[in-house]
Amino acid sequence: MVVSERVRNDLEENDIRGYVAHRVRVSPGFDFALRGQPIPPYYLLEFTGRFDLDRRRFDNFEGQLCPNCHLWKPTKGGKFGYGSKNLFPLLESWNGGDFLLQGNIDSGVKYCTRKVAELAREKKWTGFGISIMSWGCPGGGLADLGSPDWYEDLRQRVLGAFPIVDGEVHSPLDELRRKQQEGIAWPYPLPQE
Ligand SMILES: [Zn+2]
Repeated sequence: MVVSERVRNDLEENDIRGYVAHRVRVSPGFDFALRGQPIPPYYLLEFTGRFDLDRRRFDNFEGQLCPNCHLWKPTKGGKFGYGSKNLFPLLESWNGGDFLLQGNIDSGVKYCTRKVAELAREKKWTGFGISIMSWGCPGGGLADLGSPDWYEDLRQRVLGAFPIVDGEVHSPLDELRRKQQEGIAWPYPLPQE
């Protein structure tokens, strides 16, 4: 993620954790230089926050997970392909960062805490948006950060898609696998690969 100096300063001043900001070189051919203006500083945010996913809910330990680079591959003929898996974070594995990557299963997906989203709202960052980490929520799970009720709105959508039944979080994906086994069509669009 590349950010402007203003965003980097907002992060520093508000004690946001879980990243290292690296100054990036901008090519002299860049638009600013062409217009005779100084090139503003930009920073690459290296995410250092980590959390692990619940592997049991992810693929029930079926796929191939590389112990070195943490890349995951489906097992041929298995139930679990790319995309269509439950993403339940193990809260005890969170290292306290506000910018996060999955630790045990690498996917390249970038996460942030609510603190970062609130800061983005307050400081009116542009080019920034968030959505719910798991698929299957109405509206693609996109947050409307322009609304003061954005968090409660997202929370209700998550609770609607992942209701708690008998103390267990109920995932629509579990239901999908059951219905597929029974030959019943699934009403939601399949997740993207
Ligand atoms: Zn590997």
